[in-house]
Amino acid sequence: MSELVSEVPSVVLAVYAHPDDADVGAGGTLARWAKAGAEVHLVVCTDGGRGTADARTEPAELARRRRGELAEAAALVGLTSHEVLGMTDGELTDGPELRGALVARIRRTRPDVVLGHDPTAVFFGQDYFNHRDHRTAGWALLDALAPAAALPHYFPEAGPPHQAAAAYLSGTLEPDVWVDVSDTIAVKAAAVECHRSQFQGSDGWAGEAVHLRAEEEGRRAGVPFAEGFRRLRLGG
Ligand SMILES: [Zn+2]
Repeated sequence: MSELVSEVPSVVLAVYAHPDDADVGAGGTLARWAKAGAEVHLVVCTDGGRGTADARTEPAELARRRRGELAEAAALVGLTSHEVLGMTDGELTDGPELRGALVARIRRTRPDVVLGHDPTAVFFGQDYFNHRDHRTAGWALLDALAPAAALPHYFPEAGPPHQAAAAYLSGTLEPDVWVDVSDTIAVKAAAVECHRSQFQGSDGWAGEAVHLRAEEEGRRAGVPFAEGFRRLRLGG
């Protein structure tokens, strides 16, 4: 029932809305695959400049800080590359600009596996609903993957067509595969903790939350710690 993914892709492209999203959603998986020899690229769509409740923090200054946090986390996870598209936080728009940018990254990196947000996940219980940028980035990525990146008449200037074989969507309400992250849970926790601007709690709070969440998914998958995904097989 609970399928554990054991194969390691050769090239991975993760596309997330904000600088901390990849680490929160899939940091253990990205670290595991990087450690096993995969080439792992990350594209962050927005600059994250509005991710604060403090009116005195300038968005441009926050965006600059978050680039630093992201670089620190990327080094821990072992990413091959990371790039911030720098679109305005909170106003990500699913249009030709974003789709074209994602198609260009897919065609350039030529991933067999792509990771991103599950855009169909809206309400998480009664306490949280999914950020607009997460939903927007999720839909834009899916539309960029298929058919756009795979067919030559879509964004013809963005390089030769490429079809990724699979998409793994995190932040999902309907996970159907799990990745065992027991060996990389400490890396994930440390990577999440790099995003200091996003966690107001006491030291170690974020890492603890990461462990609890991964333990919960691990119970569903029959391993100590896991990350759950909705998987789409796209051929290719
Ligand atoms: Zn986010």
